[in-house]
Amino acid sequence: MVPFSLLLGCENLHREQSSIPKDIAENAVTSAPKKLVVLTFDDGNISDLTTAAPILKGHGFGATFYITSGWVGKPGRLNWEQVKELHDQGFDIGNHSASHPNMLHISEDDIREQIISFDEACAEHGIPKATSFAYPGGHHDRRMVKALVTEGYLTARRAVSPEYPLYDRGGPGPLYNPSEDDPFLIPGAYVRGNLSSSDQEFEEVLSGARDGSICVLIYHGVPDVHNHCSTSVELFTKDMQYLKDNDFTVISVQDLSNYIDVTKRPKDIYEPLLARLGVSPKALKCDASSKNPVFSWEIETTRPQGQSAYQILVASSEKNLNSDEGDLWDSGKVESNQSLEISYAGKSLTQVERLYWKVRCWNDPDEAEIKRVSNWSAKEILGEMGKIRVSKYSSAASFSFE
Ligand SMILES: [Zn+2]
Repeated sequence: MVPFSLLLGCENLHREQSSIPKDIAENAVTSAPKKLVVLTFDDGNISDLTTAAPILKGHGFGATFYITSGWVGKPGRLNWEQVKELHDQGFDIGNHSASHPNMLHISEDDIREQIISFDEACAEHGIPKATSFAYPGGHHDRRMVKALVTEGYLTARRAVSPEYPLYDRGGPGPLYNPSEDDPFLIPGAYVRGNLSSSDQEFEEVLSGARDGSICVLIYHGVPDVHNHCSTSVELFTKDMQYLKDNDFTVISVQDLSNYIDVTKRPKDIYEPLLARLGVSPKALKCDASSKNPVFSWEIETTRPQGQSAYQILVASSEKNLNSDEGDLWDSGKVESNQSLEISYAGKSLTQVERLYWKVRCWNDPDEAEIKRVSNWSAKEILGEMGKIRVSKYSSAASFSFE
């Protein structure tokens, strides 16, 4: 056991860091304000009108209700008069397809048919054409995005994958960053329900609504006709009160255009998502109890996967480290899943009083997890999940030998 005092001397160097690349941030027309939350409800349950809408109205919140046109009028679902009523109350009505298929497995013609038959049904019932689409089950590919653009849509909401594992019970996902994400691949930050009712996770994703990132919440019925995605009235009431009490601005997907430029698109729709598929090092520690320091870090990942390799740089000055120059030690790429107690193996440190270090990691994709989600992910994405990627270097850490 290492005495506590021997671990002293390690400190992380704090720096102002922004996740938005400078050139993008400067060109943005507007940037999302802090504490911006988008509320969405999928599948068109009767409770959208009878339970959710009155609570939302009471708080002055906006929301988008994504309706599956072929389910309208079925037991437990809204009928067309009720969908119209939601629209008349000022809520946004979005397209959630005609029959809720796994659209990864249908033809391009059928994808288009799923989109436009919803539009036709709305027109028939006096509901304006939707501007937003929600992928059934959250499953998306390039063909769907292309079809939505062709049909005059402005935005589409997916769920939490590929950055986070997709589970039927719901759970956390990535925040929406309009300076990076394509408006046709808006992620859900949390798929909420009785099976994903953690207050800690809920509050954590909401706390991410800052620095230009927006928190998009996905609910189904309150309650839902299906148990696995149902939210109790009690949990929903508590959630909305939390948003109110903590001064969140709560809007529909359509209202996003009041805050950000929804026409701004990345060079490639999948590039921002794929950049999040690797692992990254955090919580750097060094044991400076002897002149031969020992390094440790933790692996940060949102997917089930590990580390396959690392590279440590140790420098005599912050300047050298910032230019990726490990003048005392550059471990090179070391194939290893080890991230604890890695011994220094560089130049002699007898004259050195303080040193600076950082590390980067390569991921180790989880083949079993990739196989598990194969029915619900585009082939292209599955291929990308299996690739080994290198992280950026961690923030610099330093320690002294005093
Ligand atoms: Zn759905």
